[in-house]
Amino acid sequence: MIILDKATIVTSEKEAIGTIVVENGRISDICYSDNEDFEYRIEKIIKENPDAEVWNLEGKHIIAGGIDAHVHFREPGLTHKADMQTESQAAIAGGVTTVFDMPNTSPATISAERLRDKIQLAKGRTAGKIGFHIGATNVNASQICSLVLNGDPATGLKAEDIAGVKVFMGSSTGNMLVDEKETLNELFSISEKPVLVHCEDEDTIKANLAAAIEKYGDDIPFTEHENIRSRRACIKSSIKALELAIKHGTKLVLCHISTKEEIEMVRAAKANNPEIIAETSCNYLWFSNEDYSRLGSRVKCNPSVKTPADRQALREALANGLIDTIGSDHAPHLLSEKEGSYVKAPSGLPSIQQSLPVLLTIAHEEEIPLTRIASVFSEKAADLYGLKRGKIKRGYEADLVIFDNTKEFTVRNEDQLSKCGWTPYDGVTLRGVIEKVLIDGAPVSLK
Ligand SMILES: [Zn+2]
Repeated sequence: MIILDKATIVTSEKEAIGTIVVENGRISDICYSDNEDFEYRIEKIIKENPDAEVWNLEGKHIIAGGIDAHVHFREPGLTHKADMQTESQAAIAGGVTTVFDMPNTSPATISAERLRDKIQLAKGRTAGKIGFHIGATNVNASQICSLVLNGDPATGLKAEDIAGVKVFMGSSTGNMLVDEKETLNELFSISEKPVLVHCEDEDTIKANLAAAIEKYGDDIPFTEHENIRSRRACIKSSIKALELAIKHGTKLVLCHISTKEEIEMVRAAKANNPEIIAETSCNYLWFSNEDYSRLGSRVKCNPSVKTPADRQALREALANGLIDTIGSDHAPHLLSEKEGSYVKAPSGLPSIQQSLPVLLTIAHEEEIPLTRIASVFSEKAADLYGLKRGKIKRGYEADLVIFDNTKEFTVRNEDQLSKCGWTPYDGVTLRGVIEKVLIDGAPVSLK
């Protein structure tokens, strides 16, 4: 038994001083100091459990370990950039204890066999918990509809082995573009699992890129990224996804929202389908188009980061509850791969190690209550994916992050645990130093 005594406990409901009792890997009790019998109850527990470890956490905060449903750990196939071992360790250092990996690996996770292989590959190799999404293509929709319902007896894959279905309605990476109307209708009619959609309109992007090549030749400046991966491309595709989600009542996760218009669209769509989930990533809450000239390819991700006004609208949506979940979209590439021309440099940013501190810093800057952070960081995702973790609640698995919210630190590339060894946040000062992480009630290494 571990008694996490007198910390400031942060949940989506309140932020208050209290004590958490961890027993057999689970949260067995929570008492708040504003309860009349608080001291008496804690003394009684300690007396009855003389072997219990008591950690005095006065001045520290505790939040449930993050559930990040949007990571690219690059395995199998791209292990020169990242692998499940290194990236899951980076996740822990960022306060993230559960991740769901995206299917655009090599080969892509688009069948029962590939998903089973990926699950096998992960066994015993990750520092935290890991689950997997399956990828949709223009040809596998019927197969996926059957898998999410019945699993696959031939491979032994169970329906519960699938976290969600990823749909690229814009070909970000790999050959997973889904653009056929019938296929989209079939996929959006899935009701058993979340359907996670990357929305950027392919035709718009192609036309913008062709225009940029015409204008700049081989030397497209990185500042053009937001014009090529344009706001119009996002809006056009998101409208389609939201309409389909309303039509079918889909548990749609609109991934990495990057524009203020999409926020307004989601607000309207949720009135018709309250199951719609709005996801953004810290990248869109932190960076803007003003960073392209300084960071170049190091801030090239898809969708592109947009204007400071978009970033501010996203921060407001985080504050007012319109944003439901944060996915890091952690997508490592080597710096050597990021060198070179605009067209050559791949899109994607490693960022998972900054997950909780970036949110804490934004909460501080914008005066957003930490209750909102608890909601977007883990609680909403716990409900969405049906997990008994990610909440500070009796009976839940004790995945907990202890941090000092008064301390600041400066992010440095050399401290990154991701195999790629760099972060676009290099040099940035963030608030919230993570001191201890527990998974299933046991402390885990932060390095
Ligand atoms: Zn992604």
